[in-house]
Formats: sequence, structure tokens, C-alpha cells
Amino acid sequence: MEIIVYDAMDRRFLFGTVASLETGDHETSCGHVVKSSGLKQWCKALLDEGGFTFNCPKCAQEWPWQEVRKIAQLTQEECRSYEAQLHSIMKPKAKSYKKCPSCSLYVQRMDPEMLSVQCLPCSEKSDKSFQFCWECLREWKNADGQSDSCGNKSCSLTALLLSCGTIKQKRSEVYGCPKVRACPKCETLTQHCLSGCPDVLCPNCHHQFCYRCLGFEECNTNCCIAKRQKLTGIKDNKIKSFMG
Ligand SMILES: [Zn+2]
Ligand SMILES: [Zn+2]
Ligand SMILES: [Zn+2]
Ligand SMILES: [Zn+2]
Ligand SMILES: [Zn+2]
Repeated sequence: MEIIVYDAMDRRFLFGTVASLETGDHETSCGHVVKSSGLKQWCKALLDEGGFTFNCPKCAQEWPWQEVRKIAQLTQEECRSYEAQLHSIMKPKAKSYKKCPSCSLYVQRMDPEMLSVQCLPCSEKSDKSFQFCWECLREWKNADGQSDSCGNKSCSLTALLLSCGTIKQKRSEVYGCPKVRACPKCETLTQHCLSGCPDVLCPNCHHQFCYRCLGFEECNTNCCIAKRQKLTGIKDNKIKSFMG
């Protein structure tokens, strides 16, 4: 099978073949196998050059940082220092870079006036221009690429759900959750009062749900924090028409 090896001396990747995997060989999320040794130096060199995405040298798919940490076998100490470096690289870029919703690569917005942004790797892959909405991070639906509306429902509310801060009160049972959530049933936006159990009652449909995992059952703080929501807008419309 094919294996990717980083040559730290030459600062480049080599592609070889091996009969079987050894310790330190990792199958990555893109399916390619990579050797651990040298990856540390690769990370460091990349960060020193201001890089912030770690892509498979074979297929260019991004390896999430959580995975890079593991395959490069970083120590706790190295993790901390690399993450601090990554953070300082990302901070000034946060305004002009966002992750493409389809391929997760960072895309730079060239024109700050434009709501639609084209992802080049996705466009090349699908042989047609792939654009997404800078606000709600969904595929661009409007035939007019210059428009100030992406054609998706609940664009600005979704943008709020994606960009609001996280709850920083360490004692709260909803610590780490976004400050705003949507009711999973009717998509009405709601907030947690920050004290008491993670459950909240939707102010609109009175559906009770867990602010952390968005599940319907009563939870303790052991449940996983569900990722930020993107609204369909469909549920909302149903309710509006129902209410006349
Ligand atoms: Zn790959
Ligand atoms: Zn993309
Ligand atoms: Zn949008
Ligand atoms: Zn509701
Ligand atoms: Zn829960």
C-alpha cells in the first residue's frame, strides 16, 4: 500500500509503498496512510510560514487539527505551543477567511462587499462554480451571484447561530455552548438563563429540550454539546401559516 513520508531534511513529502503498516503509520481521515516521523517538523515549518491548514499532500483534503495532533504525535507541551502559534495566525484572518461548508478548506473573501464567495477546489471538482453564502455558510442558491440574498431561508438567523459567542461561565451546566440556540422543533431562537439544569423551554412552542445536545430527554452535563445549528426555515414558515 502507498505511504506518505515527510522528509524533514529536504522539506518535502515522498510517496512510497509498504507491504504492511507499522507502528507510527496512520490511516488518516482522507484514507491515505502517513508516517508519523517527521510530521512534527512539517507542522512546525508550516506554522512558521504562517500556514494554518494541514492538507494531505496526496489528495489535498484537510486534516483537522485534532487529527494532525495525533498523527504527528505531539506531546502536551508541543500541542500547547503549536496551538498558541495557530491561534495567533488565525486571529487576524478571522474576518476574511471562512471554512467552505462543502470541503472545509479555508476560503478567503476577496471582496468584502460580496455575500457570495466561490470555493475554487469545490468548483474544480464539480466542474461548475461552487459558491457559498458568507453569512450562513450554506451553498449559494440565488441565480444572481451579486445579490445581497443567498436564497436560503433564515440566512441572518443562521448567521447569528453560527457566529454568536460561547457561554464562558465555567460553573454553568451549559458552559461551552453557543450563546444562542434554536428550538429543534420550531427553530425559534432562545437563550439559556445560565443557571440550573441544561434543559430549556421553547418560548414559542413550549417544547422542552437540552441546550447542550438539543435532545428531547432530560440530560446531565455528560451529554455532548451539539454543533452549531443551521436553520431550514421550513419549520418556521409552517408555524407562521398555522398562526395565520
Ligand atoms: Zn489524502
Ligand atoms: Zn469547498
Ligand atoms: Zn446565507
Ligand atoms: Zn419551539
Ligand atoms: Zn443533553
